[in-house]
Amino acid sequence: FSKADRDRTLPEKKTKELDCYVGFANLPNQVYRKALKKGFDFTLMVVGESGLGKSTLINSMFLADVYSAEHPGPSQRVKKTVQVETSCTLLKENGVNLTLTVVDTPGFGDAVDNSNCWQPIIDYIESRYEEYLNAESRVNRKSQPLDTRVHCCLYFIAPSGHGLKPLDVEFMQRLHDKVNIIPIIAKADTMTPEECAHFKKQILNEVAQHKIKIYEFPDTEDDDEGKANGKKLKDRVPMAVVGSNTIVEIDGKKIRGRKYPWGVAEVENLEHCDFIALRNMLIRTHLQDLKDVTNNVHYENYRCRKLAGLGQDGKQPRNSNNVSQSVINNTFMTVWNPLAQMEEEKREHDAKMKKMESEMEQVFEMKVKEKKQKLKDSEADLQKRHEQMRKSLEAQIKELDEKRKALEAEKSTWEQANGISIEELRRRSLERE
Ligand code: GDP
Repeated sequence: FSKADRDRTLPEKKTKELDCYVGFANLPNQVYRKALKKGFDFTLMVVGESGLGKSTLINSMFLADVYSAEHPGPSQRVKKTVQVETSCTLLKENGVNLTLTVVDTPGFGDAVDNSNCWQPIIDYIESRYEEYLNAESRVNRKSQPLDTRVHCCLYFIAPSGHGLKPLDVEFMQRLHDKVNIIPIIAKADTMTPEECAHFKKQILNEVAQHKIKIYEFPDTEDDDEGKANGKKLKDRVPMAVVGSNTIVEIDGKKIRGRKYPWGVAEVENLEHCDFIALRNMLIRTHLQDLKDVTNNVHYENYRCRKLAGLGQDGKQPRNSNNVSQSVINNTFMTVWNPLAQMEEEKREHDAKMKKMESEMEQVFEMKVKEKKQKLKDSEADLQKRHEQMRKSLEAQIKELDEKRKALEAEKSTWEQANGISIEELRRRSLERE
């Protein structure tokens, strides 16, 4: 419901400032304690060719061995077909628990022919939505189903300096309406600051040109200073990052970085790369928004597609007897609106009923036609048989007539030859007896 809708349906509101303490000022604390007790979960997907530094970045980001000897990163593995693998880590920081699930796609873009290498990824994302939808629709459902949906996809772009590859464009176009995509320029230390700035511009131009919708970091701070800080970080998109799991010492200070003969590329230095901007925005300020957008936009789109009986591409599968394209288009909503959804479902139902009615009428008409044809056929058959019978009887009559005539002729020849008629002969023989 929009705020205007709500204002219209609710009775007029009076404002009253209480003079004494009742206790509901503690409500935020109740929510806070409940959330703290329950813990948080976040599912992060990393996609990109192997060797782009995905595992290193994830380890650097959470300062933990999400990837370790038992769970090696993609480039450390032998398999090269696209697979989707998950690893789950419970992270604890100041008493707050975060269950981090990293979804990894080893083998992506590594083959000679990469056509359809995004399919296992789409299937994974959609199957998590399906699981969630099933859990929500169960008769005995938990108050909050387990959320294993992918909340964010970090897409790693190779630091080629030559814009996006066709595979990058294809992947983002196919997934941008299914998951929050954050494009990342990998191994930014391999480019000079000028090359990096130019590369970012090129990527943004291509993203706009191909109408790719990447995740946009909204303002989370209300004050001007917060907004200005957020804007500064946002202006760094697509973020160019450096990852490292080693600590180097500079002037007695221990820092995370990559040491070269000519200097150190510091991971956590905003002048060297955007790692800190990415980490802050992803974890500190926008983690909840990423989850909200996943729930309110991508998951809702999935639900609508599912209800409208559409395929992954948003088109109606062949042989499907579902609703018209206009209904489908209307069904796609960026913001969840239950009334509109109900209306849509009703319209869908009416359309289905109408279609069924007309189909039944067609079937009935067909059956009547078939029966009429059958009657006509048997009538014609009877007529034919009657005609045949008549002809055969006529032939028999004619034959008998001819036989009678021949007998009469024979009789008169015999009477002439014997000079007496058959009748006379019969009379005399009667008299003799
Ligand atoms: P993955 O296959 O995408 O997970 O890549 P890895 O994280 O296993 O990294 C592959 C190689 O790239 C390793 O030798 C890393 O040390 C190196 N690497 C990781 N991040 C960076 C980076 O930001 N810059 C450079 N130059 N090398 C990196």
